[in-house]
Amino acid sequence: MTKLLFLIGFAAAMAWAQNQSVLGEDTVKVSDHVWAIMGFPNIGIIVGNRATLVVDTGLGPRNGATVARVVAKLAPGNQKLFLTTTHFHPEHAAGEGGFPAGTILIRDAVQQQEMELHGQEMVDLFASRTAQQRELLANATLRAPDVTFDTELKLDLGGVTVRLLWFGGAHTKGDELTFVEPDRTLISGDVVQNKVVPNIFREGGTPSSWLAVLDKVAALNALHVLPDHSAPGDGSMVALEKTFISDLRDSALELKKQGVTADDAGKQLGAEFKTKYPDWPNMNVTGFVRSIYAE
Ligand SMILES: [Zn+2]
Ligand SMILES: [Zn+2]
Repeated sequence: MTKLLFLIGFAAAMAWAQNQSVLGEDTVKVSDHVWAIMGFPNIGIIVGNRATLVVDTGLGPRNGATVARVVAKLAPGNQKLFLTTTHFHPEHAAGEGGFPAGTILIRDAVQQQEMELHGQEMVDLFASRTAQQRELLANATLRAPDVTFDTELKLDLGGVTVRLLWFGGAHTKGDELTFVEPDRTLISGDVVQNKVVPNIFREGGTPSSWLAVLDKVAALNALHVLPDHSAPGDGSMVALEKTFISDLRDSALELKKQGVTADDAGKQLGAEFKTKYPDWPNMNVTGFVRSIYAE
């Protein structure tokens, strides 16, 4: 990515990287103990004195192996490797097979349930999209985690404590958040993104459960936020996410009261919010408006 940075500038290079299904080995430093590979999706790497935690795998084992190589370079002395996933979708979880034997896989119980119900179905769906995704997912395996937790699990990586958290449904039912305590860095998955219209996947969370999750996230008082499909930023991203969802929800419920159909409300609010939030690049609110109507 270094050459690209030089040619097209940092923001453009990051946007480019976030669409790449094949991850590179370059990292950006997010905070004292946290690095990220920018790609589809962004991968979080938290390095302690004794152990390393990776958040998300990349799409398929080849990407998982790339992440494992980066980890070995960042923390050559650490024998212990933990892996967790923000949610069960294949670009976040289906690269586990590329990690070394002995990697300790952890995820929240609700996410694991979704994985068992729909994990393979999602791998098949992604593999049907493009030849590249089919190839990347050809030998994907979805093994059972070594550890599951209900609402919270605390890891001590040696000098760095990390909280793995399940606050409720948002993008999916099992969305997991990772909070690196000494850095106050939040690895937020899809729950908090950087100016990306929220998306509830199928029967995931609801707009109000998403808002309830955000109240709990706000209490963490994060300084840095690393989302999965957009650029990293500071703690203000949490409040901004909540403002956007509340604003859209209030506006849609008002139109619903007036008898406007969900499709018409989506069109109208799509135009309105483009003006209201001009620096949000992709203003596709129809899906979220439908979720608001359905709740
Ligand atoms: Zn997803
Ligand atoms: Zn994703």
